[in-house]
Amino acid sequence: AIPLVVAISTAISAQKGLLIRNRTAFEEARKITAMVFDKTGTLTEGEFGVTRVQVLDRNTDETALLRTVAALEQSSQHPIAQGIVREAKLRQLAMPAISDFQSITGKGVSATVDSRRVVVVSPGYLKEKGIEQPQDAFGSGAETVVFVLIDEKLTGYIALADKIRADSKEAVERLQQSGIKVYMATGDNQKVADAVAKELGLDGVYAEVLPDQKVNVVKDLQQQGQFVAMTGDGVNDAPALAQANVGIAVGSGTDVAAETADIILVNSRPTDITNLVEFGKATYRKMI
Ligand code: ADP
Ligand code: MG
Repeated sequence: AIPLVVAISTAISAQKGLLIRNRTAFEEARKITAMVFDKTGTLTEGEFGVTRVQVLDRNTDETALLRTVAALEQSSQHPIAQGIVREAKLRQLAMPAISDFQSITGKGVSATVDSRRVVVVSPGYLKEKGIEQPQDAFGSGAETVVFVLIDEKLTGYIALADKIRADSKEAVERLQQSGIKVYMATGDNQKVADAVAKELGLDGVYAEVLPDQKVNVVKDLQQQGQFVAMTGDGVNDAPALAQANVGIAVGSGTDVAAETADIILVNSRPTDITNLVEFGKATYRKMI
């Protein structure tokens, strides 16, 4: 039988923007000592606006570059992709046809446009391939930058900016007041990660984390003796959500993440997690 207090609490938490898929997870919420948030779409709005389009090749120009990249990004669901497509539409650019679209999980996308192979990727991907980053790419700090390779040649980059959610700071502070260390794990670059971490007063940050490394972030904290809760939205976050003591899928995310998670955060509001933790502690006190 389900203890009455838990049944009632579960019903209440549904109204508070949380769906509990695994009842144990709700009872475990009071044991959490480390909370790992993903950045994009959870601590931030996940709505990117293009701030700069930079061309690094004399044979092309800003309009041609943006049009080509936007053509690819129409096939991607990533918030970065949506920001780039929105910008191209604002500039009323006609987008060319693409073929052989491929998603490089957690790193970017590629496709063939006008019989050339176009790759749009993270700084981490450039590092992996041993391609040097242009010096001015991260000039003004907290921008997310994606690089454009055409037939394996670095041709330009696009910088975008996202906003921290209004209630992220409150969520972090209240978790810390409950004795929980708050971390962020992101595939985005170190500069952006540091800027967000500083603004929110986080206890630690893992930046430029490749998809298969997110699970290692959880393991790392568990090895330090922490009882770890982790949020995630993408397909690539599923293994980390499974490894976490409490896996929390962000509502707007993919079905795969939701299926692996113990809890679904319906409105992507970080304070809903804070409420859950505080609520879990209160519920447990009533039960004993
Ligand atoms: P996060 O959720 O922390 O942003 P992701 O794993 O979703 O991490 O993405 C990691 C990085 O991969 C992004 O910051 C970006 O640099 C790159 N990336 C992912 N998808 C795309 C895309 N559609 N277009 C361009 N870059 C992308
Ligand atoms: Mg993601």
